[in-house]
Amino acid sequence: MSLQARPTIADGQLFIDGKFRPAEHGETREVVNPATEEVICRVAWGTVADLDQAVSAAQAAFESEEWGGLTLPQRGRLLLRIADAIDAHAEELALLESLNVGKPITVASAFDLPFASSVFRYYGGMVEQLEGSARPAARRSIAITRKEPYGVVGAITPFNFPLNLAINKIAAALAAGNTIVHKPAEQTPLSTLRLAEIMVEAGLPAGVYNVVTGEGATVGARLAEHPGVRKLAFTGSTATGKRLIATAAQTMKKVTAELGGKGANIVFADANLDAVTQWAHLAAFANTGQFCMSGSRLLVQRDIHDEMVERMVARAAATAVGDPLDPRTEMGPLAHRTQLERVMEYVAIGKAEGATVVTGGAPAGDGRGFFYQPTIFTGVTPQMRIAQEEIFGPVLTVIPFEDEDEAVAIANGTPYGLAAGLHTTDLSRAHQVSARLQAGIVWVNAWAMFENSIPIGGYKQSGFGRELGPEGIDEYLQLKTVVINAE
Ligand code: ADP
Repeated sequence: MSLQARPTIADGQLFIDGKFRPAEHGETREVVNPATEEVICRVAWGTVADLDQAVSAAQAAFESEEWGGLTLPQRGRLLLRIADAIDAHAEELALLESLNVGKPITVASAFDLPFASSVFRYYGGMVEQLEGSARPAARRSIAITRKEPYGVVGAITPFNFPLNLAINKIAAALAAGNTIVHKPAEQTPLSTLRLAEIMVEAGLPAGVYNVVTGEGATVGARLAEHPGVRKLAFTGSTATGKRLIATAAQTMKKVTAELGGKGANIVFADANLDAVTQWAHLAAFANTGQFCMSGSRLLVQRDIHDEMVERMVARAAATAVGDPLDPRTEMGPLAHRTQLERVMEYVAIGKAEGATVVTGGAPAGDGRGFFYQPTIFTGVTPQMRIAQEEIFGPVLTVIPFEDEDEAVAIANGTPYGLAAGLHTTDLSRAHQVSARLQAGIVWVNAWAMFENSIPIGGYKQSGFGRELGPEGIDEYLQLKTVVINAE
């Protein structure tokens, strides 16, 4: 495949009220292919005025017969049609994701796209099951509870899984009956712009889903501030999340926030090390390590430390890093230049802190594109910056431990609590340790096993609220109680 296979995209346009149009002042910015550094197209650089118009369009759509007047079965069927439309465009969307983010096309095709349509299907099927309750009250009265949508939902997403992190929000928000204004990441807006068009073609009324591309600090911040937005769904860094939550508090918006992580992947000496090597490699290097739920800290019981390091180094060194469109490629580039620079800076920090690079530690390829080698540090202590801070790149830190208590203390010893994992053949240890880990999801003898029915989200400074599963739709519904006096 080559760039000739590039799908058509609306160059330099926002998607508001069912139509593409330029930003207020016609300003645009380049969108870059991280594997080649070539400009793919330009993206509209929206303004606060554009954002405000999108919110008005979403508000009007929320109140419209075309959307607000749909029965639950009609709304459910519409979501199922969108799922089918995503499947019908899967190849094109996978290609966009690969070109824009640098993901291997094989991964985008086998994971991102099937998962995207499956989430629409899952929530589409759930729409008809939405129900309230009726309870007897004093004096033969009755109290009815109704689950109602918020109205206009604001969604802000990061650059690493542009389609999936958007769809986890969009499908649940639509299933609940809301309308949406979405601000995708500056660097990777292409797949959701195309999704907007595909959804309208599948029958979604104009204004129900709007995309305003542009800068986080202006259009993103306005979305958090806008009094017409009643609920904000954010995935991104903990620093930005804190700022958004403070802004959203001024208008008392309901917020869900999935933030940074520094996942601990704990390997006990009794584990099956062949299997662990595969899982731990995936945990550290999937999506080039740009994954808030990555297992970027490998905690290894001291008896097997050296053997485990040897296995991980061999696996990392065998990784096919290169052209995302080549089906043999396992790991693509970082998604943008700043991210590559950040990884280089953290590797320098790790060395300065006294840790040892046992494999990788340098850019990969011929100097074109934002490629970096899978990198492993040993000699890491739990308080080093490379063991505490989210690097968001292909850098794994290995930390030895003696026993369960020490493993749990190290695992829980960061401000984050998004994902964790443990590997053991001892069932009671699996139960006991998973209960002690402060993380929103714990994988036992696995990593990154996702299902549309399995909720994800953070503990501690990794945020609050859940996406996916039945819990995911509740985040987009508010409860009203109606009390009817029978006298
Ligand atoms: P990352 O480090 O993954 O880029 P960010 O949290 O900076 O994480 O970005 C995630 C999303 O948040 C992006 O869409 C970005 O544009 C947006 N964003 C960044 N800063 C702000 C802000 N001050 N207000 C609202 N959104 C923001």
